[in-house]
Amino acid sequence: MKNERIMVTRASMPPYEEYEQLIRGLWDSHFLTNMGCLHEEFRDKLKLYLDTKGMELFVNGHMALEMLLQSFELKGEVITTPFTFASTTHAIYRNDLKPVMCDIRKEDGTLDPELVEDLITENTCAIVPVHVYGNICDNEKLEAIAKKHGLKLIYDAAHAFGEFIENPDGSRTSVAQLGDASMFSFHATKVFNSIEGGAVSFNPDKYPFLSDRLYQIKNFGITGKESVDYIGGNGKMNEFAAAMGICNLKYVDSWISSRKAIYERYVERLSDIKGIRFLKKAGNIRYNYSYMPVVFEKNSYNRDEIYERLAKNNIYARKYFYPCVNNYKCYEGILDPHGTSVAKELSENVLTLPIYPELSLKDVDKICDIILFG
Ligand SMILES: *Cc1c(COP(=O)(O)O)cnc(C)c1O
Repeated sequence: MKNERIMVTRASMPPYEEYEQLIRGLWDSHFLTNMGCLHEEFRDKLKLYLDTKGMELFVNGHMALEMLLQSFELKGEVITTPFTFASTTHAIYRNDLKPVMCDIRKEDGTLDPELVEDLITENTCAIVPVHVYGNICDNEKLEAIAKKHGLKLIYDAAHAFGEFIENPDGSRTSVAQLGDASMFSFHATKVFNSIEGGAVSFNPDKYPFLSDRLYQIKNFGITGKESVDYIGGNGKMNEFAAAMGICNLKYVDSWISSRKAIYERYVERLSDIKGIRFLKKAGNIRYNYSYMPVVFEKNSYNRDEIYERLAKNNIYARKYFYPCVNNYKCYEGILDPHGTSVAKELSENVLTLPIYPELSLKDVDKICDIILFG
């Protein structure tokens, strides 16, 4: 049998008939976008699933973050992480805000709260951390800093869909409730997808204006039949995307369980090996196992060599995230490429291995054998 390619991820899809059934009505209504019925149904279901009272949907995660930052009418500097996808920093910069790079914690890759305060100036307006790989940031510390200095705390939660913090009293806090607001991505490559899509979660009691404002900004800034009050854009989610989201939502819990089994197999095979390190997982979090990052310490392993070796075997891992954002060409002369040494080191040593619900444990074993034995 031909050696199939194993990619780092694979888009999860519902049974075809379920999707077909849901979109059939669109051939009667001819209502394809602009916040239609499926959009509203998807939003209602997501609010329940993510346990948040405030939610607006977007065409993708990037526009959700860009428009969320716009909706808070921020000016000045934003403290953020260089260990992320291009989108986080671009969303800040494209809002005429200045990204200020803060280093990360070695153990889990998230923004290091101990370093944030030193970077705060009179121009700082917000902190934008990333729950990278689904590792939830130290929210308690970050919230305390944000409160003390009057800053907005806006999370890039693109990796953290469906995660919960289990509290000592038995209750659960959804990741969607952290900070002032959070952005989620429903891109095809994420744990949960609506083909392309995104959302913002927030607390409407704290920010009663936010729902309308996000709605208006994603719809060209139109505020009434004859009024346009914001320089908005087009960030609307269409009905086909919403239908995919509705169908996928039914399966996401079972997909997360499958991912967990795969994650545990990798850990079983690769832990306690000198030079191989996993990022720390806290005991009180319901993770989504969205990524399988493994750190190969330089004096024992060569990350790039392992990457090539896997590729020769038709297995495509990713150097995710390499390089760090402050080393991108487009930020030359704008962002300091130095000063975030922990992020730099992680980006040079980390490899995200294949993980998706249908990946067999046999294939996981094969991947581990290639890493360990060549
Ligand atoms: C995927 C991703 C985004 C952007 O989301 P899209 O839906 O692809 O636009 C932003 N930030 C991070 C960390 C991501 O991984």
